[in-house]
Amino acid sequence: DQRPRLLVVANRLPVSAKKTGENSWSLKMSPGGLVSGLLGVTSQFDTKWVGWPGVDVINEVEKAALSKSLTEVNCIPVFLNEVFDQYYNGYCNGILCPILHHMGLPEEDPHDTTKTFETQYDAYKKANRMFLDVIVENYEEGDIVWCHDYHLMFLPKFLKEYNNKIKVGWFLHSPFPSSEVYKTLPSRSELLRAILRADLLGFHTYDFARHFIRTCTRILGVEATHEGVVDQGRVTRVAVFPIGIDPDRFIRTCKLPEATQQINELKERFAGKKVILGVDRLDPIKGIPQKYLAFEKFLEENPNWRHKVVLVQIAVPTRNDVPEYRKLKDQVHGLVGRINGRFGSVSSLPIHHLDCSVDFSYLCALYAIADVMLVTSLRDGMNLVSYEFVACQEAKKGVLVLSEFAGAGQSLGAGALLVNPCDVTEVSSAIKEALIMPADEREKRYRVNFQYVYIHSAKKWGDDFMSVLNDTTPESEMQL
Ligand code: UDP
Repeated sequence: DQRPRLLVVANRLPVSAKKTGENSWSLKMSPGGLVSGLLGVTSQFDTKWVGWPGVDVINEVEKAALSKSLTEVNCIPVFLNEVFDQYYNGYCNGILCPILHHMGLPEEDPHDTTKTFETQYDAYKKANRMFLDVIVENYEEGDIVWCHDYHLMFLPKFLKEYNNKIKVGWFLHSPFPSSEVYKTLPSRSELLRAILRADLLGFHTYDFARHFIRTCTRILGVEATHEGVVDQGRVTRVAVFPIGIDPDRFIRTCKLPEATQQINELKERFAGKKVILGVDRLDPIKGIPQKYLAFEKFLEENPNWRHKVVLVQIAVPTRNDVPEYRKLKDQVHGLVGRINGRFGSVSSLPIHHLDCSVDFSYLCALYAIADVMLVTSLRDGMNLVSYEFVACQEAKKGVLVLSEFAGAGQSLGAGALLVNPCDVTEVSSAIKEALIMPADEREKRYRVNFQYVYIHSAKKWGDDFMSVLNDTTPESEMQL
């Protein structure tokens, strides 16, 4: 292969490995946002994935067997084993994720000295070193490395310490908060300095990039320029690359016989009613309680709509073992019970709440039949669900009600009805406005959104990032 090599490093490999026998594994590719985003660049690069395979493997023979199977799908595993819990559940999900999503630093359990801020931070650094070790083992001169997300903030520094000629990019898939929030992180400076060693840092929106630059100037005292951040003459480029979806995959799927049948069944099931759709992981950042409170207010104030509208909410289970998430589930179930109890009848329930994920075809069918898509994230890196809804709405031309705190609020703001998800009155009014919006206005808004979603595809995202990264000058060649 003559193409330049690209190592894509993310916490999780885009495959799920399942043990099928002694030293044999079956692999299933998972087509998430990152995979479709990189489909574009894979034609120009010989791309290898580096990441955790999703299973713990201790035995060396088994490790070798799994590694061999993974090689066939261009994947290289990082076995994190005993470090995983404190690195992933601890530092990444318990500390970094809430800070980056403006949720503040959670309190430590004073009785558990085995899982403190320090032990988790150490595990985080250790895990980042394990990623480095695997990269070093597989590195070939000229390889470009693209690191993904907050799981790997030390990796740019470790890579440059290993070899400062390597071109290193890093992309953040979550929001970046205001410096006032970021400041509370105990390891704030060390982490910032570590990612600043990359040649290019990418964010979904201008707001996130601006927050990041401000945070660097305030906390580290470095200089901000139109290109990014300058520290003692060394430039780290900071740029905006809004991620997208593969719109053709959704358009195509909606036309397949399986989805067509599902669309017909759903239409029949909800005949005579307008359908509001929600699709979110059951995560505090998604604002599901806020969504239900707004819908309750809408039903309270608009009795004529009570039996003419349903809210179908797919609440995809996530982090079930974390107490805070279980509490959220109870809270949400309580609200569903109350609202259905207040406004339902024997033959109709206003909320259909499902604690499950659905398969791709059914998801497309739901997107296609919905009259309104309701996204009330309190914070969200991008929110691809809103893009996917738009891609499936060719026939219906429904309305997107979208939180201004989702990254998508900045890209789909012109066609959507933007709301502050914490303002129950505003969301309730937006629901009404969406339900009664005249067809010509719906069509106009749909066109604006569709054009955006179609042009700003995942492929474009990957291509744009790689082309800017290619244009950067690595620090080893800079005139200091
Ligand atoms: N999704 C899924 N199964 C489902 C419902 C949703 O795989 O049952 C997908 C959905 O198609 C979307 C992703 O989950 O691509 C959610 O991405 P988003 O950016 O909206 O939110 P995130 O979960 O990454 O915070």
